Amino acid sequence: MESTKNKYVLVIHGGVGTIIKENMSTEKEAAYLEVLKISLLEGEKVLRNKGTAIKAVEAAIKIMEDSPLFNAGKGSVFTNEGKNEMDASVMDGATLNAGAVASVTHIKNPISAALQVMQYSSHIMLVGEGAEKFVKQQGCDFEEPSYFYDEERFQQLKEAKQNNEVILDHTGENKVLEGNIENGGRKLGTVGAVALDDQGNLAAATSTGGMTNKQFGRIGDTPIIGAGTYANNTTCAVSCTGHGEYFIKNVVAYDISALMEYKQYTLKEAAAYVIHEKLKHQNGEGGLIALDKKGNYIMSFNTEGMYRGVVTTDNKPKVEIYK
Ligand code: ASP
Repeated sequence: MESTKNKYVLVIHGGVGTIIKENMSTEKEAAYLEVLKISLLEGEKVLRNKGTAIKAVEAAIKIMEDSPLFNAGKGSVFTNEGKNEMDASVMDGATLNAGAVASVTHIKNPISAALQVMQYSSHIMLVGEGAEKFVKQQGCDFEEPSYFYDEERFQQLKEAKQNNEVILDHTGENKVLEGNIENGGRKLGTVGAVALDDQGNLAAATSTGGMTNKQFGRIGDTPIIGAGTYANNTTCAVSCTGHGEYFIKNVVAYDISALMEYKQYTLKEAAAYVIHEKLKHQNGEGGLIALDKKGNYIMSFNTEGMYRGVVTTDNKPKVEIYK
C-alpha cells in the first residue's frame, strides 16, 4: 500500500439542498465560495504545521460556524418556537474517541464544545443546559441568543410555518423536502469536515442548527456518532448532511465504514450504494463527504447541490456548489 505519511487531505461540506444556479445571485454564490475557501485554508494551515486531523476539522468548521451563510453556529436556523438549538460532534479515527453536544443554545462554536466533551469528560454526548454548564468550566465561548438572530433565517421560519413544513412525522413521509428549499439549502444546511493528517490519522466533525421549524428538543443525526459523523483509521472518516431522521434510521456514517470493513467495498462503492440507492429509495435527501486512510475521498449527494471543497498536500483548495 502506498504510504500516506507526510500527505494530508481535508474535505469540507456546507450542507445540501435544492441549490440551483438559476436561483443564486452572483454575489451570494461568490460569498459562499469565499467562506468555503477560507475554511479549507484555515484547516490546511493546521495540517501543514503538523497539527492533527482533529484540530484541522475543528478549525475548518469554526470558520463556517462563524459565518451567517451556513446553518451552524451563527447562521443556525430557528426551531418552531423561534429559538436556535444547535448540535455538533467530532470523532478521532485513531482512538475512536468522540464528543458531541446537542440542543445547545448559547455556545458560539458548538464544534469546539463537542471537542471539549471528547477531551475532558468521560462521556460522549452532553445535551442542553448540562452541556453548556460543562463546557463553560472548560472556557468555551458563549453568546447571547441575539448573536444567532438572522433576519433572513427568521423569515424562513415564518414561511415554513405558513406552509406547515418541517414538523417531521415518523411515517416516512418526507414533508420537509416537498417545500421549496431555494437559494442555499435554507431549510437544510449543516457544515462538516473530514481530514487525514500526515501521521495517517483520520477525523470527522459535523455541526448544525438542524432544520427550520423543527420541534423544540428535536435532535438530528449530526451529534449522533455513527449517524451523522464517524471516523475509524481502519476504514474512513464521514460527515453527513441531509434529512437527519433518515440518516439516523440508516446509521449512515457507520454504514459506509461497515460496508468497507465487512464487505470490502471501496469508499466510492459504499457511498454510491448508501446515498444513491438506499437513501434515495426512501426519499431520504442528503449527502456526505468521506475520506479513507489512503487519502481517497468522495463528496456524494442525491440533491441538486452541496456546498463542498477539498484541499490536499498536492492540490490547492477547490470549492464547488452544484451537481
Ligand atoms: N442533518 C441535519 C439535521 O437533520 C440537517 C442538515 O444536514 O441539513 O439536523
